[in-house]
Amino acid sequence: MKKYSCETHIDHALDMLVAETEEFPIMEKIFEEEKLSTKCSYCEECATYIVSSK
Ligand SMILES: [Zn+2]
Repeated sequence: MKKYSCETHIDHALDMLVAETEEFPIMEKIFEEEKLSTKCSYCEECATYIVSSK
């Protein structure tokens, strides 16, 4: 499972992933090039983080 998140929704994204997977989430920064083409899963902002589980 993988979610994208902006600065605003990172806490929400982490909570949602824990709730859905019951595992500790891994948070990574998105590279600049990738950032421009990737939107937050919770709003229309460009995503800053990728949150994933194993
Ligand atoms: Zn957002």
